[in-house]
Amino acid sequence: MKSLITSFDTLLIAAAFIIMIMGLFGRWSLWREKKDKNISGDWGRVKNYLVKHSEILKRPNVGAAHMAVFWGFVLPVTVIILAQFSFSMPGVPALMLSFLQEAAGIAMLAGTVYLFIRRIQSQESEGPKRTVIPMFIMLIILVSGFLAEASRLRITGTGSAWASPLGWMLSFGTPSSPLFMQLMIRVHFFAVLLFIASIPFTFMRHLAASPLNIFYKKQGPKAALREIQPEIGEIGAKTAGDFSWKQLLETEACVSCGRCEENCPAAISGKSLSPRKIIRKILEQAEAAACQECFISISPKSLLEETISQDEIWACTTCMACVEHCPVFVEAMDKIVDMRRYQVMGRGNLPYEARPMIRDLELYGDVQGKGSAHRADWAMNRDVPAVGNVKDAEVLFWVGCSGAFHPRNKETALAMVKILKAADINFGILAQEELCCGDPARRLGEETLYQKLAKQNIDKFKKYNIKKILTLCPHCLNTLKNEYPELGCSIPVVHATEFVMDLITRNKIKLKYPVADKIAVHDACYLGRYNEVYQPPRDICRAVPGVQLKELKRNRENAFCCGGGGGRMWLHENTGTNINLIRAREIAESDLDMIGTSCPYCLVMLDDGVKSLEKEKIPVVADIIDIVADAIK
Ligand code: SF4
Ligand code: SF4
Repeated sequence: MKSLITSFDTLLIAAAFIIMIMGLFGRWSLWREKKDKNISGDWGRVKNYLVKHSEILKRPNVGAAHMAVFWGFVLPVTVIILAQFSFSMPGVPALMLSFLQEAAGIAMLAGTVYLFIRRIQSQESEGPKRTVIPMFIMLIILVSGFLAEASRLRITGTGSAWASPLGWMLSFGTPSSPLFMQLMIRVHFFAVLLFIASIPFTFMRHLAASPLNIFYKKQGPKAALREIQPEIGEIGAKTAGDFSWKQLLETEACVSCGRCEENCPAAISGKSLSPRKIIRKILEQAEAAACQECFISISPKSLLEETISQDEIWACTTCMACVEHCPVFVEAMDKIVDMRRYQVMGRGNLPYEARPMIRDLELYGDVQGKGSAHRADWAMNRDVPAVGNVKDAEVLFWVGCSGAFHPRNKETALAMVKILKAADINFGILAQEELCCGDPARRLGEETLYQKLAKQNIDKFKKYNIKKILTLCPHCLNTLKNEYPELGCSIPVVHATEFVMDLITRNKIKLKYPVADKIAVHDACYLGRYNEVYQPPRDICRAVPGVQLKELKRNRENAFCCGGGGGRMWLHENTGTNINLIRAREIAESDLDMIGTSCPYCLVMLDDGVKSLEKEKIPVVADIIDIVADAIK
C-alpha cells in the first residue's frame, strides 16, 4: 500500500501529537508532585478491563455503545498505522479487511450517535453536557469518512459492495465529484487532528486518565480511607493540593457518567450532595491552583471549603454506593472524609449535633457516655465470661457500643451469647475493658480520637492474646478487620452471620422452630459493599424452618443505605426525605412478614422508618442473630 499522507500533512500530524503530549504533560503536573504511599500498577488489569468491558457493561445499553465505540476506534486506527508501511495484500484478504474496518466504523457510528443523544437529552447540569463537543467531533470524523469512501466508490466505480456496504449504499446519493471527495477527506483529516490535539483539554482526556486510574486501582480493603498521621500535621484536605496524587488522578479519570449520583442515597433523598459534582469541583480547584502557579488570575474560590458546602460534606453516609458503581474506580467518599478531617481537626467545625457523642467518646470511650463501669451491664447475671477469665478462648465476642448500651441491640448481644452457649463455644468478652472501635469518630473526621481508641483496644487484644474476633456490628467488623492492620493489629475478624452460618453448617446448632414466613434480607453497607458478606445472612434465613426468602428491589451491592452510617446516626436530617424512610417504604411495599438486618444501626434506623409509615401491616424488623436465637429456642 502506498501512503496518501503528504509531508505537510505529516507536519500537521506531528503538531497535533505535540499539542496532545504537552497538554497531557500539563494535566500530569496537576498531581505529579503530590504524596501518596507506594502504589504499584498492573497493565494486565487494564488489558482485562478494556477487553472485557465488564464494569462498563453493568449498564448494558451504555456499555454496548461504549464497547462499539472503543473497538470501532481501535481496529481502524490499527489498520491506518499498518497502512503507513509499504506492503501489498492480495485481493480477498484486503477486501475482508476493508469489510472489517467498515463494520467497526458502523458500530462506532451507532455507538457514538447513541451516546451523543443520551448526553444531550440528559437533564443534568454541566457534567454530561461537557462531553458533547468531543463527541460531535467524533461524529464529524465518522460521517466524513463514510462520505469520502462513498464518493470514491462513485467516482471510480471500483470495489465490492460487500466489502464497503455503507459506503456503497451512500455512493448512490453522493456527487460524482473529485472536489467533494477531496473535501470530505480533508474534513475527516482535520477533524481527526482536532480530536487528537484536544484530548487533554476535553472530556476525552479520560482516554489517558481512566486507563491510568485502572492501572493504579486501589488494592486491599474496599473504599479504604487515606492513612494519615495527625501528629505530624496531616489533618485532611483544605485545598485540592492537600489530596494525594492518586486522589487527584481519580478526578481526571471521572467520565461524568453520573452512576455515582444515581445511586447516592444523599442525592436520591434530596440533599445537596452529589459525588459526581464533588469530583468535578475538586478537579476545577486543582486546575485553578495550577493556573495560579502560572500567574494566571483565578476566581477567589480556590479553597474547597468555599466551593463545597458544609451541607454537602456532612450529608454523606459513607455507604460506598458511589464507589461500587463507578465504572472507572473513582472514589468520592475518601475525599469527603478528608474534607471532614480538615473541618474537624483543622477548624473545629464538627456539626454541633455530633459534639456530645464525640465528647462522650473522648471522656468515656463509648458513644452513649455511660462509661466503662457500665459497659458489661447488659451481661449482668447472664453468666457471660470476661476473656481474662477464660483459658484459651477460641474467640473474643466484641460487643460494640450498640450491643452494650442500646436497649434494642442489647437483646441481640444476649441472643449471640445464647447461640455461643448452645454451640458450646469457648468465648469471652472484654467487658469493662472494651472501648468504642472508633468508627464513628473516624467517619466524622476525628482521626486523632479514632487512633487513640484503636490503640487502646489493640493493647487489650495483645494483653489477652486474642486469636479471633466475632462481632455483631459491620462497622466494628470493617474497622477491626480492615483498618486496625494499618495500626499494626491483624487478628482475624468475622461477622456474626458468617460465624453462625458456619455453626449451622457444622451442625453445632439446629434451627428447629419457625419464626416468620416471608423474610427478606436488608444488606448493610458495611457488611455487603465493604466486606462482600452477602450470602451468610440469606443462608441463615433459608435454614430457618418454613421461611420463604424474598429479595428487596435493591439488594446486595445495589442495596439502599439505612441512612445511619458515616456518623449520620448522630446528625439531623434537615433537607429532603429521610433516607431511612425511603428504605422503609421499599420494605413495606415488598409483602414481607419480617426484614432481617445484620447491623445495629440498620436495625434502629429501619425500625424507626417502618413504624413511622402509618400502615396497618408493617414487617417486623429483626437482627438475623435474634431470628436464629428464636429458632433454636
Ligand atoms: S458514600 Fe454514599 S452517601 Fe456518600 S457520596 Fe457516596 S453514595 Fe453518596
Ligand atoms: S465518579 Fe465515577 S460514577 Fe461518578 S460520574 Fe465520575 S466516572 Fe461516573
